[in-house]
Order: sequence, then C-alpha cells, then structure tokens
Amino acid sequence: MKRRTEQERYIAQTISMVERLLRREEVPLQELDAFSNWLRRGGKIEGLEVLTSFADTAASQIRNYPDPAKLTHIEEVSSSFISFISSRGKRSVARKELLFHVTGDFLGNISWKRFLEANRYVTRFPESVQQALEIGYDLHAKAIIIEDSMRSEERENFEKLLKRSESSWTPIIVLGPASPHRRMQAYEAGADDYWDESVSFDERLLRLRRLIRKSDFVSKTVLVDELTGAYNRKYLNGAFERRRSRAGQEGVFGLAIFDLDHFKRINDTFGHPVGDVILSEVAAVIKDVIRPEDELIRYGGEEFMVLFSCEHQLASFRMMERIRERVSNHSFDRGLRVTVSIGFTIISAPDMTLSVASTQADEALYKAKRTGRDRVIGFDHSLTSEKIKAAISLSLEGEEESVIELLHVEHVRYDFEIRKYVRPGIESLELLVLPLGAIAADDFRLLDWLKHERGRETQFMAIAESEDELLAEAIHRGVVDYTVLPLDPESLAERIRQWVIHLA
Ligand code: GH3
Ligand code: MG
Ligand code: MG
Repeated sequence: MKRRTEQERYIAQTISMVERLLRREEVPLQELDAFSNWLRRGGKIEGLEVLTSFADTAASQIRNYPDPAKLTHIEEVSSSFISFISSRGKRSVARKELLFHVTGDFLGNISWKRFLEANRYVTRFPESVQQALEIGYDLHAKAIIIEDSMRSEERENFEKLLKRSESSWTPIIVLGPASPHRRMQAYEAGADDYWDESVSFDERLLRLRRLIRKSDFVSKTVLVDELTGAYNRKYLNGAFERRRSRAGQEGVFGLAIFDLDHFKRINDTFGHPVGDVILSEVAAVIKDVIRPEDELIRYGGEEFMVLFSCEHQLASFRMMERIRERVSNHSFDRGLRVTVSIGFTIISAPDMTLSVASTQADEALYKAKRTGRDRVIGFDHSLTSEKIKAAISLSLEGEEESVIELLHVEHVRYDFEIRKYVRPGIESLELLVLPLGAIAADDFRLLDWLKHERGRETQFMAIAESEDELLAEAIHRGVVDYTVLPLDPESLAERIRQWVIHLA
C-alpha cells in the first residue's frame, strides 16, 4: 500500500514538472538534465522501472541540444513519459490541444497537419465554415485557422463563428495571400492574426502558441458564460473548494449535473440559433427555482451543474425534482418543450474531490438517461460499475495484437473492449480502425451504411497507403483521423488514446 502512494506521489510531481516545462519556450540545458535525473530516480520505485530507460534516452538526447533548449526539445525529452502516463489513463497531461483548420484543400495541408501533430496538437480539418460551426458544438478547439477564400465565401457563417469564438476567447487566424488589402479586410472582419505564404511553419507555431496563451489567460479571469449568464467552468474549482472547506461546520452540500434530453433534435430541426435561445431559457428557469446561495454553472455545451446546500439525499432529490418539473412544464421559444435528465451526489466527506463528485453525478445522470430521460437519479455506490459498453475494433493486417497490447484506455462514461475487427459490433459506441480500402470499398458502402444506421455511434479511423485523393474523400465523408503505412504501433496507440480522450 505504501509503495502505491509513493508511486502516485512521484507521478503527480512529474506531471506538474512536465506541464511547467512545456509552458516555456526555452529552458537552460541544466533543467533538462535535472529532469532526466529525476526520471532516473523514479525508475527505482517499484512499478516504475521503465523510467530508467526514458532517463537514458533523455540523457543521450540532451547531449545534442543547444543551450538553452527549445520547446521542441522539451517535448522530445518528455514525450516518452507523456505516453507512459496517458496509457495509464491520466488525462490532464496526456490531453493534447485541439485545433481546427478550415480548408477546401485538405491534401495541400498534409505537411502542416503533420507538423502540428509533431508539436502535440490534435487537428480536425473541416471543409467549410458551416462544418466548423457544427462540429464546434461538440468539440472545443483551442484556435481556429481559416483560409481567406473560405472566409469570404461564407460571410454569414464566419460572422457566427466569430461571435461564438469571442465568447470563448478562441483565437481566429486567417490564412491568405500576401496582399495588404486582404490582410486589412481579414482584420476588419475580426481575425486575430493573418498568415501569408511568407510565414514559415515555425513562425506559425510561435504565433499560434502566443495567441493561445493569451486567450487562456483571459478566459481564466472571466467567470460568467455569456450565452446563459451562468458561471462558467473556471468558476467551478473555486466554488467547490469554498463549499468543501465550509462543509464541516455547515453540513453537507450537493452537486448536480443536468443534461438536456435529445437536444440534438432541436438543433437539427430548428437550427442552432433556436437551440441557443432555449439554452439560455433553461438557465433562467433553473435559476428561478434554486435559492440565491446555490450556484449555477454551465458545465458543457448543453449541460449545467448546480452546487447547492442541502441536509440529506431526500431533500436534494425533492429540490432536483422541482427543477425537472419546472423545465418540463415550461413553454419555450416557439412553444417548444424540453426535458432534462439530472444526476446528483451528496458531498459529505471532507476529502471528496471535485473529480470524484462530478464522476458520481455523471454516473447517476447516465442512469437517468438510460432509464428513460426526464428524471432525477441520486448517486449510490451500486451505480459505479455501470459504464456504457463500447468497443475499439481493429483490422491491421496481422498487427492487431501488437496495438491491442499497447493500448489501455479509460473513459468516465464508456467501458471499452479492444478487439480484432470481424464485423460491426452492437455496442452503443464503436471506434473502428480499418484499412482505407475496406472503408472505401463499393463507394464507401460500409461507412455510409453505418453512419446511416448508427449515426455518431460509429466512428472511423483509416489506415491509408498514402495521402491521396481517396483519403481526402474519406475525410470529407467523416472519417475522423488516419495513419499512413508503414504502421507504427506506438504512435497508432497514442492516436487512438487521443481520440478517446476527446470523446465528449
Ligand atoms: P441525450 O438525451 O442523450 O442527451 O441526447 P442529446 O441529443 O442531447 O445528445 P448529446 O447530449 O450527446 O448532444 C448534445 C447536443 O447539444 C450536441 C450539440 O450539437 C448540442 N449543443 C451543445 N452545445 C450547444 C450550444 O451551445 N448551442 C446549441 N444550439 N447546441 C449545443
Ligand atoms: Mg450532453
Ligand atoms: Mg443531451
């Protein structure tokens, strides 16, 4: 038992060390040396022996670096530790940042995509501003890059995208020709930066990082969500801590997560702007029911959280039930009806963390969804094993075993079985990793059929021979990501892990 704590403590310290290093553009070589020695020390802890070899590799890499070392070197030295950690399901350090690049020319941007991925980004290449708007509801990009021609072709959508990114402080970068006139136009339209052909990949990266760092800083200081007037997620940590530190004297408190039922249908039928109005109305209804001392937080796109004082489970249940009822009886914009599912938990132990409490509320919420929606469920420990069955199915021309062996994924909501692909499974979520040829056969029959039958519950990654027209067509049709042969099991495993991490 004691060993385990030592291991955990060491890992936590190393994660914060790596995060601190990665936030800098340069560090003196000495610091990297110290880091490699630190890894070596870790290798002496039972269960962490593998770190000794990371330390050896790091030490030999460091010998070739300039002083001070650059960010790419810091990334190189820490990468084996990062993939080691991400394979053990530690999200925080393993999570790479997501970027959108809106372009009509996917193939022309392959080397840029590779460059970004080598620099710890995950990328999506929507082929229109419209598509970027749509996937932006489910995925939060750290920055959005848009080609100037797309910006001018889809002015209205660009306006919408700008509006949305302003409220989340997401930088918008326009990529265009070296024309002072176009540059001015892009800035006038609201772009945060403009890159022409003279800007090299390295410079792009530098400017991108600078913008992201600034937007992170600003968004940390803003605590209210613009659309709904609820607090945003940044507010949550502090609010939870304040309540927890008072919990001893003032009794227990509750944490509830609300998720709108079938909200996608509202968006699909009436459009996202109507969806937005309804979201802000739902927030108003909830605020009206809760007491002044309770706190409403916009937790995700169409998810809210409430922190509330309470005496016991039953009182909490009644209060949540009141909210659920008020929402379902409310007549929204255009007379629409909306229901919510609610999961909650009670925080009574002073050492319960936010992450444990929200996982519990989330589990209760998913039970509410599974048992018919429009209902309230309180957490109890019998729920913990009830994750949703999911699968990752691989067809890799005989290499399945080596990837399966490397791949350990964990997700709060899904319980993944990792297996060799034979035919599509029956799980409610399946990630398929297949040769491009199999996905594209008979004019993409498999892909179209599964998308039609299962919707978003089936997602594809392609194993491609080369980055060609067929691959571009596959991406266009919704293949999430790809890897090019020859297969590198390590990097494929890492790609799949990132895919899982970014699942909502
Ligand atoms: P379920 O009952 O299972 O929750 O069904 P659902 O359709 O609500 O599914 P899910 O929670 O997975 O999807 C949430 C949808 O909410 C997807 C996304 O398009 C939409 N959404 C998320 N954020 C926003 C937002 O800010 N505005 C609008 N209009 N829609 C949003
Ligand atoms: Mg949701
Ligand atoms: Mg929902």
